[in-house]
Amino acid sequence: MSSPVALPVPQIPRRRPTAVREPLQDRPVDGRKRVLLAAPRGYCAGVDRAVVAVEKALQRYGAPVYVRKQIVHNIHVVTELEAQGAIFVDEVDEIPEGSHVVFSAHGVSPMVVSAAEDRHLHAIDATCPLVTKVHREAVRFARDDFEILLIGHDGHEEVEGTAGEAPDHVTVVNSPAEADTVEVRDPAKVVWLSQTTLSVDETMETVNRLRTRFPELQDPPSDDICYATQNRQVAIKKVAADADLVIVVGSANSSNSVRLVEVAREYGAKAAYRVDYADEVQQEWLDGVATVGVTSGASVPEVLVQEVLQVLAEAGYGDVEEVRTAEEDLMFSLPKELRQDISGQRDERALGGRSR
Ligand code: SF4
Repeated sequence: MSSPVALPVPQIPRRRPTAVREPLQDRPVDGRKRVLLAAPRGYCAGVDRAVVAVEKALQRYGAPVYVRKQIVHNIHVVTELEAQGAIFVDEVDEIPEGSHVVFSAHGVSPMVVSAAEDRHLHAIDATCPLVTKVHREAVRFARDDFEILLIGHDGHEEVEGTAGEAPDHVTVVNSPAEADTVEVRDPAKVVWLSQTTLSVDETMETVNRLRTRFPELQDPPSDDICYATQNRQVAIKKVAADADLVIVVGSANSSNSVRLVEVAREYGAKAAYRVDYADEVQQEWLDGVATVGVTSGASVPEVLVQEVLQVLAEAGYGDVEEVRTAEEDLMFSLPKELRQDISGQRDERALGGRSR
């Protein structure tokens, strides 16, 4: 639903001061200059939980706390956590024995868990519960000897983690085109699962093409593409239909952010670009543009969106309408290892208090 309320653009300092650049110019265009701001956008429940887990681990154990891979795929978030004492590594064998490690929101395979145990690491598993759900599905279908066609991007951490749960049963299907060529052992025992952050439309195209070849293909018990990915795509579809330009805030390795750019183009935006930071918005993108759509991926803090709105306001796009297509109130509790440790710490303090 579109609400015609002009939202104030807060005055906040720009992040990442880089090379001095010319401010964007307020040039005349045909029509009223405005921004359509998609909602929901930005942080999802799984990202929020993972980032808070690293912050709480730093507070509880002190720096450094190691994080395997980027905790979430956003360069700004990673940089901020590094400044607080987090150290990001690619693999657990880079971490000194006995240290604390946080596994990222994208999940890990059992091999990674066991490598961490071998190094006596204290692991905090910040895998998003909606990714864990897909892991459990993979384990269950493998136990029943199904062949699992995992729709997702080969090499993405989430796909590696899910495939690692049942490596002998999983084949990754990267695209609709691959659905036409993938081979299975027994077409009567095949199920599809997916990465949580894909394009809904493209995934359904892949599934339809798979089903043409394997009519007995089973569906997952519930949607694998998560609520946050779906909600952000629905919102940008509505915005894109009226937008001359869409700007998606998010990092290049953020699957759901990149999908938002693609979806915006497919659903009518004349142009769509992804930026990490506001200073990447280019003057020429705005030439002749009356309506700018803005959204952000599920790993993007709202401050980065507000900085883009500030830059756009300087160029005459200060009139901001929010286009909201869903409400979100999902929250996940902290990883259990951290909850136990934090509550243990409270208990110790309580006991200490009583004994004095
Ligand atoms: S995008 Fe979805 S699956 Fe990924 S962390 Fe967020 S809620 Fe979880």
